Amino acid sequence: MGEVECVVSARSRGIRLTVKPSGAVRLSYPALVGRRRALAFLDAKAEWVAATQRRMAERRETIPHITRQEVERLRAEAARTLPPLAYALAERFGFEVGRVTVRAARTKWGSCSARNDISLSLFLAALPRHLQEFVIIHELCHTVHHNHSAAFHALVDRCLGGRERELEGELKRCRIPIVAEA
Ligand SMILES: [Zn+2]
Repeated sequence: MGEVECVVSARSRGIRLTVKPSGAVRLSYPALVGRRRALAFLDAKAEWVAATQRRMAERRETIPHITRQEVERLRAEAARTLPPLAYALAERFGFEVGRVTVRAARTKWGSCSARNDISLSLFLAALPRHLQEFVIIHELCHTVHHNHSAAFHALVDRCLGGRERELEGELKRCRIPIVAEA
């Protein structure tokens, strides 16, 4: 399982074992639990760790890798194109959006805050335009429904001319690339 990062955490309630996408293992536990019990827990989970690391390795092979330079190029392109696109779509569909910012988010394409500020992943700039619009419209609809209720999806679907499920499926097949360490 390689090296294990051990963290004594005041906040965690129990022992938490995680395998990162890189395959690195992290074990965090409250001080009360103590190192010995935490390590015994890790031992008991060795098989799970190995299986998860294998799964992560397989996934890494199917995820595109890009260089830091390419990330910087995407970041610049995203900053230049995504906020104007979001404001244009907001205007077209009549949404009141706050600030639109671009971040280096790796786990989601976009998010919408309680104050209706939208944050978009710079990796969105690598996707085709219709998927960029899909993600942005999804987030814009969150300015009206701050949840994933049926009413929310009905609104998204209406804005997309009945193509929500189709586009959702297409987006699911897109992976946020891994940044290759130089
Ligand atoms: Zn959402």
